[in-house]
Amino acid sequence: MNTKEWLAYDARHVWHPYSSMSSPAPVLPVVAAHGVYLELADGSRLIDGMSSWWSALHGYNHPVLNQAIGDQLQKMSHIMFGGLTHEPAVTLAKKLIDISCDNLQHVFFADSGSVAVEVSIKMALQYWFAQGKPEKSRLLTVRNGYYGDTFGAMAVCDPENGMHGMFTGVLPQHIFAEAPASIDSEARDDDGWKAEYIEDVKSKLSQNHRQIAAVIIEPMVQNAGGMRFYYAEYLQQLRQLCDHYNVLLIVDEIATGFGRTGTLFAYQQAGIEPDIMAVGKALTGGYMTLSAVLTSSKVVQGIEADGKGVLMHGPTFMANPLACSVANASIELLLKSPWQNTIQRIETQLKTELAPCRQLKAVKDVRVKGAIGVVELQQPIDSRWSQPRFSKHGVWLRPFGKLVYLMPPFIITEDELTQLTSAIYQVLKEIAFKS
Ligand SMILES: *Cc1c(COP(=O)(O)O)cnc(C)c1O
Repeated sequence: MNTKEWLAYDARHVWHPYSSMSSPAPVLPVVAAHGVYLELADGSRLIDGMSSWWSALHGYNHPVLNQAIGDQLQKMSHIMFGGLTHEPAVTLAKKLIDISCDNLQHVFFADSGSVAVEVSIKMALQYWFAQGKPEKSRLLTVRNGYYGDTFGAMAVCDPENGMHGMFTGVLPQHIFAEAPASIDSEARDDDGWKAEYIEDVKSKLSQNHRQIAAVIIEPMVQNAGGMRFYYAEYLQQLRQLCDHYNVLLIVDEIATGFGRTGTLFAYQQAGIEPDIMAVGKALTGGYMTLSAVLTSSKVVQGIEADGKGVLMHGPTFMANPLACSVANASIELLLKSPWQNTIQRIETQLKTELAPCRQLKAVKDVRVKGAIGVVELQQPIDSRWSQPRFSKHGVWLRPFGKLVYLMPPFIITEDELTQLTSAIYQVLKEIAFKS
């Protein structure tokens, strides 16, 4: 098939995420990707502002990552993990344990972020079940969250902008507290914290803790559910409340993990230790699908309390050796790089260069944290309108709803980042929303 033919076949037969099959939105044909550039079929190149949904930390076609996966390919691409094991998985487990907090000592590998969330939830439920407290079977979470698209994950996503409406009656009913107060774009971190910000989650925990297995939350940043940044104080107090009410704390680091927010994991900014942590997305530097759930000896011993309990999960492609080997190389590459300075530099540049967007009529708020830049609009933006315009400026951005956001690969240069931020400014300047 030539490009025109396969694009036409795509439009008739292939589903894209959250999109219509019968009237598909245009999609761009990508034939290669190098560094921060996506190369299209017509030979043009776009600077990727999305890191392929948070994952491509080191850009595309990285020689070190290519080498790692190539070497592993010569040995074995996959073996089942039941009854067998391999060095890439064990090395990766050790790396994850070494870079996270002391209490996280055990690793379960899964195949995508959503599945890692399912496994995290299952761990918490099995923990209480084995303690003889099966009534502790609900989760508490906050509004504006996003945890993935499988059923267990969907049930804790924001009840309004998530998919609850469609699946009422199918999804388990969990408890939702108000979203953590968003840090004002003008405020410096943790200035402006008010004691009342924790009240809602506190009262919901105090009323319902006997039924609650765990609190699940995205630490410091609410990602796809609104791109909101919140206070470290919130996480600290949440940890104390979980201890007080005997509830486990699950942090979903799938978007925030591996440096994106300025620390290796976002929860580290609050100095807390979660009971369970899910990672995914950037784990393999964006090369392969792989996720992992880390937990503590307390949770393991709890699940196995009667000496028989085992964690009831085991995906076919669990701990895929290709994925583990590229994850090992990606983490090494990250840790060997001056990543703190890199994130700091990107953050400073994003703050400076996105600030002028505040003057635009279409813009409600501009906020930056680590290597994440967010421009929130007054009205939702139609990607059919914005996409060709961003392409004309040579950048790939995929706004959703009212949010134009970017999280570039860490290897981006100053000039390339300027091209992204100025494309945002130029395109948003064209919007003349009625007030
Ligand atoms: C993307 C995401 C998920 C789901 O991961 P998938 O790999 O898409 O299943 C879960 N939680 C958060 C915070 C995410 O950003």
